[in-house]
Formats: sequence, C-alpha cells, structure tokens
Amino acid sequence: MINTRADKPQDVPHILLINPWIDDFAAYDFWAKPLGLLSIGGTLRGRGYRISYIDCLERFDSRGRAVARVGRFGTGAYRKTVIEKPRKLHDVPRRYSRYGIDEDGFRRRLTDLPAPDAILVTALMTYWYPGAFAVIRTVRDVFPSSPVLLGGIYATLCSGHARKYAGADRVLRGRTEDEVAAVVDEITGFSGNGRSLAGAPDNPPYPCFDLQNATPYVPILTGRGCPYRCAYCASPYLNPTHTRRSPVHVVEEIRYWHKRYGVVDFAFYDDALLIDADNHILPILEGVIHLSLDVRLHTPNALHIRPLSREVAELLHRARFKTVRLGLETACFEQRAVLDQKVGPAEFERAAQNLKKAGFTFDELGAYLLFGLPGQDIGELEASTMVVKARGIRPILAQYSPIPHTDLWEESVKASRYDLEADPLFHNNSIFPCQKTPFSWETVSRLKALAQ
Ligand code: SF4
Repeated sequence: MINTRADKPQDVPHILLINPWIDDFAAYDFWAKPLGLLSIGGTLRGRGYRISYIDCLERFDSRGRAVARVGRFGTGAYRKTVIEKPRKLHDVPRRYSRYGIDEDGFRRRLTDLPAPDAILVTALMTYWYPGAFAVIRTVRDVFPSSPVLLGGIYATLCSGHARKYAGADRVLRGRTEDEVAAVVDEITGFSGNGRSLAGAPDNPPYPCFDLQNATPYVPILTGRGCPYRCAYCASPYLNPTHTRRSPVHVVEEIRYWHKRYGVVDFAFYDDALLIDADNHILPILEGVIHLSLDVRLHTPNALHIRPLSREVAELLHRARFKTVRLGLETACFEQRAVLDQKVGPAEFERAAQNLKKAGFTFDELGAYLLFGLPGQDIGELEASTMVVKARGIRPILAQYSPIPHTDLWEESVKASRYDLEADPLFHNNSIFPCQKTPFSWETVSRLKALAQ
C-alpha cells in the first residue's frame, strides 16, 4: 500500500517524496530518517499540496510489521541485496549491497500512484549518490513527464557533481523548506492555500512522519547550525546561521508524536543542543519532565562536552535520556588545536563525573573518537580510547569521512590514495580514504576490540 493522502481535491498538485536506497558496504538505521525531505513534505502539505511518500529504506510493511531485524529503541536493520561493487572500489575486499526495498517493489509503488506534478528526491551522505541516481533513473522511466528535483546534503556539498551526473531537472543546493516550496510553486503554478512559514520560523509544520508505514522513533530538531568551526565538520557550511526553535514548541512536538502516534523514542538531530543551556535545553528538559511522558531520548549526534554541568546532566537523566553521545573526537588534547577548540581535558573529566553522578550507566554513555583522520597516529587513538574507558564511558570509533568545504578537505585530498575530488564515492568512511595505505584488518579489529 502506498502512503498517500486522499483528503485533497484531485486538482491539487501531487508531490512525490522519495527517500532513496543506500548503496554501501554497511548500513543500519541508527535513528536515520530524511528529516529535511519530510520537513519539506510537512511544509508543502501545510500549503495545500497532496503528498505521497515512498521510503526505499522502509523497515516495515503496510501493516506495520517489521521486515528486517529490529534493534533497541526503534533502531533496526534494513533489508539488503548484495550488488556488484562499483569498479572504482574494486580494491576494497568487502561485499557491497543495496539497502532497502527491491527494485520491483519500488516500481510497483510508483505505478500505483497518479503521475506526480513534481518528484523530490534526497541524498544524504555524499557517497550514497548511486542509490539516488538509481531512483531518478527509475522515476524517469515510469513518469517521463514529471520534473525531478534532487536535494539533501549530497546535492549541497557536491552540487557540481550532482548537476553533471544525477539526471535531475533541478539540483536544490542548501534550500530551506520555504525556499523549496517556492520552487515547487513555480513548477506547478500552484499558489497553495496562502500559508507560509514566514512569521513562524520556530514553529514550522511537523515533518510528515505519519506517511511512513510505521513510526518506530521520531527525530527532533530544536535548532540548526553550530557556533563552532571544527575542521572536520560540515555543519557551518550546511547551516551558516545558528537558529533555535522555542523550547515550548519543541516540548509540544514531542508531546504530539507521543500522544497521537504512541512514539516512545526520540532522537535529537541538533548540532548544538546544549549551547546556551539556560535558554534552550534546560527549559526543554523541564518541559518534558513536567509532562511526565513515558519517552526515551537519544542524542546520536554528539553533545558538546563543555556545557555538561551537574544541573544539565541531572536534567538529562530525569528527562529519560537513554543514549548520550559526546563529541570528544580525541583525548590527546595537546594536539587538537588544529582540529577544534570545543573541549579541554578538565572539561571532559568534569562532564564525565557529572554524568556518572547523575545516574548514567556505562551502557548509556559513549564518546566519539575520530578514526582515520589524515596522518593520524594510531598510538594516539589507542591512548584516547584508554582515557575514555578510564572515565567509565564507552569509546565509540567514528570513522572519518572527508567532506568538501571543510577546513580539513585539502589535507584529506592530499593524504588520500584516491582522487577525492573526482568522485564522492571515495568519501566513504568504510574504506578509510585518507590513508595512503589502508589500515589492515588486524589494526581495525584490534582498535575496535580495545574500544569494547
Ligand atoms: S563538530 Fe560539533 S562542535 Fe564542531 S562544528 Fe560540527 S557540530 Fe559544531
């Protein structure tokens, strides 16, 4: 069954949103939803459009039954089909798969729909563009007259590549929901119902998670951007301005999904959730605690460590955070000035103590450590792992993916054994692209074992 809204008059333009397949060596749904695409869907629906959604990564059938292994807190595996590895990655001794529904199932879902007036496709990681391109080829075949718009992080970071190779009619680079809606208005000639986000920037229509077959969790975004400028991170490029929603609207959105759809797990997608805590996270946490909602909260995007005061840690615990991830990146603090300025050794020590005193367990806490930076000394990574474990926190090795438009990009290009500028396929962190000689399987296994 296709998720469509049938409550709109048939002369209202029909917009199809598609979350494409992932082609990769590995993929797992750790609270990964196409929030931008579904937010645009919410905005367009609010303006009167008829919206359909096909999620190629759908983990549930039309009756809400899981079709692949379900993990903790709403996470889970995708279906997958082993496919031929791209020729350029022939040297990587691993199997390559297409994650998500099969091609026939995708075609059936398309042919069940009336021809859309516009099709919006997203692509998240830069090296996932093959899945988006395959989707675009198929929709072109089924709906040759429907304009296809490609957006998302890949289209923003690699817009030249996307324009040249994607086969889309338009590549939307770094647009807000309202800006995409304006493009769709222009294409369809529809003026909507006159509603716009103007005047309510901190309380936009909710993303259309209700169009999924099931809602095992909901991502929450309380703000965009980050005031820091870390050398390895694309946040400042993707969101040059740091903006916030009102805490009261954030709490209301959590309450809405919980009460109306029974959602228990919420994943915060923010890059800077704890910044200016007094005016942002503290009122959000107090609001959640006040409502006594039976929810579980998660921060797959790392939290800043510096603002983790005793008060913040205690309120995070009382608000039922179950997955807390810290953006540590390295515990070799004397060398980190070239990478970022976001945390020092005493601050990490203090944050770790505050979290433990607040009641968080080893299983709930994790600190990301970057693995695979250009020129990285493995000995430093081993030392960082031991420092984190000694504080009672789980080290989590986060494999570095080089990102265009970041300060570390040029150094990554020089360090790589691949031509990173020629093809985003080479940005894939599974292949440790910033080493002239890839780490041996033994080295990777040893480091992972140490982290456990
Ligand atoms: S790594 Fe974190 S602190 Fe640094 S710029 Fe990105 S979001 Fe901000």
